[in-house]
Amino acid sequence: MVNTANATQAELGVIGGSGFYSFLDDVTEVHVDTPYGSPSDSLFLGEIAGRRVAFLPRHGRDHHLPPHRINYRANLWALRSVGVRQVLAPCAVGGLRPEYGPGTLLVPDQLVDRTQSRPGTYFDGLPLADGSIPKVVHVSLADPYCPTGRAAALKAARGRDWEPVDGGTLVVIEGPRFSTRAESRWYAAQGWSVVGMTGHPEAILARELELCYASLTLVTDLDAGAESGEGVSHDEVLQVFAANVGRLRTVLFDAVAGLPANAERDCLCVGALGGLETGIRLP
Ligand SMILES: [Zn+2]
Repeated sequence: MVNTANATQAELGVIGGSGFYSFLDDVTEVHVDTPYGSPSDSLFLGEIAGRRVAFLPRHGRDHHLPPHRINYRANLWALRSVGVRQVLAPCAVGGLRPEYGPGTLLVPDQLVDRTQSRPGTYFDGLPLADGSIPKVVHVSLADPYCPTGRAAALKAARGRDWEPVDGGTLVVIEGPRFSTRAESRWYAAQGWSVVGMTGHPEAILARELELCYASLTLVTDLDAGAESGEGVSHDEVLQVFAANVGRLRTVLFDAVAGLPANAERDCLCVGALGGLETGIRLP
């Protein structure tokens, strides 16, 4: 039973498809507008293990937004504005090593940005509609993921007998096309682990809003350089994702239940802005 007093509030956020919240009872749809425009869709607020969780379909509920046209700034801002301070972000990726085949769950600890056209900061010095002017602020992203969120994800996966890969580098490409074989071999030669299209700028934007953020990557295919067949196809990705979405949802819900209360966060994300005057009033 949802307490209507906080039906439009949540403490935790999940950025992922409708497969993650469509089985929840008492989901409240909340539309949020932001100074950066509209998020990908409404937020869908529900309850997991007594925790209020806001789900946001990253590509829109009917999956109409390609990765490079997602309004990442609006998405993270919208989550924060309903009270979210910790975010878990599942996403589909290609494996860059033969041993990371379809069905592998990898919780990355590093990120490489190979995108080209996405607004990747709130601190661009451009005035907002309310007249405020963000200052130029440089935020550390040495460790791009929340250690607490990562630990909760790893523990949840192990608790469901889905041994995860603990750590690795997610390289984020512009898309929507997949990699060429040469690109894919190059990514692998750098020692990077998996390749996706949405992990950037989510992680840095979360950090700029002092949100905790951790990614759960599900390998749906071996990227072009790691296999010798035709190369990855969109259908293949969808099939593997569909086959794993049930257990990924279970792990995600367990991870949500394992996160600390927002007031008890003691990770590096909390003080990411170091008390600086940023020119932006955080929601
Ligand atoms: Zn954190």
